[in-house]
Amino acid sequence: MSQPAGRILLASRNPMKLTELRRILAPALPLVAVLGLDDVPPYDETPETGATFAENALLKARDGFAHCGLPTIADDSGLAVDALNAMPGVLSARWAGRHGDDEANLLLVLAQVADTPDERLGAAFLCAAALACRTGETVVEGRMPGRLVREPRGEHGFGYDPIFVADGFELTNGELAPERKDAISHRGQALRALAPYVLAAVAD
Ligand code: IMP
Repeated sequence: MSQPAGRILLASRNPMKLTELRRILAPALPLVAVLGLDDVPPYDETPETGATFAENALLKARDGFAHCGLPTIADDSGLAVDALNAMPGVLSARWAGRHGDDEANLLLVLAQVADTPDERLGAAFLCAAALACRTGETVVEGRMPGRLVREPRGEHGFGYDPIFVADGFELTNGELAPERKDAISHRGQALRALAPYVLAAVAD
């Protein structure tokens, strides 16, 4: 089957995330141009006030489609730490108070689990990816289970990657080559599941 060509919007302006999302989507959508929020006229973005990753992803995708008319993908993701009752969860990006301060967020989580025994350092990265387009809305989810380590390691990735080791691995996400992380990551799983819907939206 020939691949449809076209344009989609990824409703994010986080350059690290855009790079990761584009890299994951590229094999499934080789002829599709993937624009970020900085490539389209600015619009008022709905605050991320949803109680779940799925709600937040859908809010962002819906906004993008309503304002730009392009099939729009958005994701919302975060870290759920067992010993913190699945927090920081939807608050992952602003856990230490200021949105996107990755180092402060990571240090706060480490401080919060300082007295937790090693065998109870289980955690998982979760991601919801949403598509909004002319024919409707779709949300899919991905999960990467693993555990926290107390000493940050590795220069790759972003956010909590240096303190997270996925099940079956010894290296932190921050030490994994980006393609290895994509193959197992919450976002990789979710976006690969969304890709057929995106292809249908582009072809529509
Ligand atoms: P979002 O941009 O609202 O989806 O916020 C995601 C936040 O969750 C990021 O700022 C990170 O703190 C954390 N996060 C989500 N996915 C990852 C990942 O793959 N690695 C490390 N941190 C992540």
